[in-house]
Amino acid sequence: MDEKKVIIVGGGITGLATAYYLQKEAKGMQLPIKVKLIEASDRLGGVISTEKRDGFVIERGPDSIIARKKSAMRLIEEVGLKDKIISNTAGKSYIYARGKLHTMPEGSFMGIPTKVTPFALSGLFSPLGKLRAAGDFILPKGEPKADQSLGAFFRHRLGDEVVDNLIDPLLSGIYAGDIDELSLMALFPNFYEIEQKHRSLVIGLNKSMPKPPKTATKPVSKKGMFISLSTGLEELIHQVESRLEEGTVVKGTAVKKIVKTGSTYQVHFETGDVESADCVVITTDHFHAQRMLSEYAFMEQFKDMPSNSVANVALAFPKSAIEKDIEGTGFLVSRNSDFRITACTWTHKKWPGTSPENMALLRCYVGKPDDQEAVELSDDEIVELVLKDLNKTMNITEKPIFHVVTRWRKAMPQYTVGHLEKIAHVKKQLDEELPGVFLAGGSFEGVGIPGCIDQAEAAVDKVIAHLKL
Ligand code: FAD
Repeated sequence: MDEKKVIIVGGGITGLATAYYLQKEAKGMQLPIKVKLIEASDRLGGVISTEKRDGFVIERGPDSIIARKKSAMRLIEEVGLKDKIISNTAGKSYIYARGKLHTMPEGSFMGIPTKVTPFALSGLFSPLGKLRAAGDFILPKGEPKADQSLGAFFRHRLGDEVVDNLIDPLLSGIYAGDIDELSLMALFPNFYEIEQKHRSLVIGLNKSMPKPPKTATKPVSKKGMFISLSTGLEELIHQVESRLEEGTVVKGTAVKKIVKTGSTYQVHFETGDVESADCVVITTDHFHAQRMLSEYAFMEQFKDMPSNSVANVALAFPKSAIEKDIEGTGFLVSRNSDFRITACTWTHKKWPGTSPENMALLRCYVGKPDDQEAVELSDDEIVELVLKDLNKTMNITEKPIFHVVTRWRKAMPQYTVGHLEKIAHVKKQLDEELPGVFLAGGSFEGVGIPGCIDQAEAAVDKVIAHLKL
């Protein structure tokens, strides 16, 4: 059998997981496949980046992986990191809205109430806002729609206050986007299905969520829903990289364009070099993917697909510098509050063991969808505005021992209304015009780390099917 060559473009978690699983499958099935992974920068990992400093483990990008999605856990265990898995402390978390911090109402699932009393008692909403939210029990279900914005959907069911003071801050913390632009069907199709089936979201969610056994006497676990690694998430990148066959990875080389020649592809690098491949898996963001395939009109739609920027700001203090300490693991900020930060994690409490004893690490984000300029301020300006905001809820008496500011420009792809249709169209066109070229990664079919690994595994299956070995 002739050897087939697969080029993977981009060395973030998606590209790395694709390379890893493809080599594993090829070895297991004894398929003659040569894999090359091309990364533009001089390091792998993309937005996964950990800094270790003075005993702190500081995540510059993602810090947590949702535990119930199994693909990430599987990869972590496969590369020997099981004993490094840590769980977040399931402490109290807060929302800053209506001028103060409020505890997250118990029983809220992505901001949707599953219990009435904690919502009825919460100071997050005015009496009128609560009354409007109760409309969910009586309002008819929405007209069937191919897609709509998350904002329109939730505003219709629960009213503006629940959306602005609870659902939006929670979702913005994940997607860094505008709830009135983001797609319901791309991000939470299950909520649409619940509404269509049960009419009321509250009733439907209660019916569809697993109930704890009535006889349960076990103490409530302190473990949260997320996992990380005690040595930082970048360790996953290093361990996957170290398991790739020698010569697989090429760093510091950007792919410029991909040209179809017969049944194979010519991959052109910025250096002027060209390599041919039988299959290409593009795992960069959608802007770079579009540029690589700019001759194809169907890729044009990625030009207008928005992506937001954020800055991650980590501040280290002695614990004694935080006078008005608050019990909990962090807070989110409602967009209508007079804050420029969008969230703050008390990292030393959320991830025990990642800060030295007696030290605190606060990790904040700036860069609301309507405050993108904040990301471009100087480090000193960003630190100053973060401290100013933090002091509205805490009393910090000293300057940070150090700060780490990381700007992620256009790194939060926005799945806006119609996203699924766009992706389906591009995939169909790729299949017809460029068979053997596949897209995977955060811009396309899942923004979180597990979603990227799922896409990598799916890409491996498609590559193997395409090569017909
Ligand atoms: P990337 O990590 O963007 O990697 C793409 C790679 O392609 C980069 O290394 C880039 O240099 C390379 N590249 C680009 N152009 C070229 C080219 N022309 N040639 C060659 N290489 C190229 N998810 C979670 O699950 N939990 C979290 O807590 C979380 N927090 C996040 C916080 C931030 C600040 C961000 C930005 C994202 C967060 N996410 C989180 C989302 C998740 O981290 C990303 O979706 C995921 O890591 C994206 O991986 P990727 O491989 O698809 O893309």
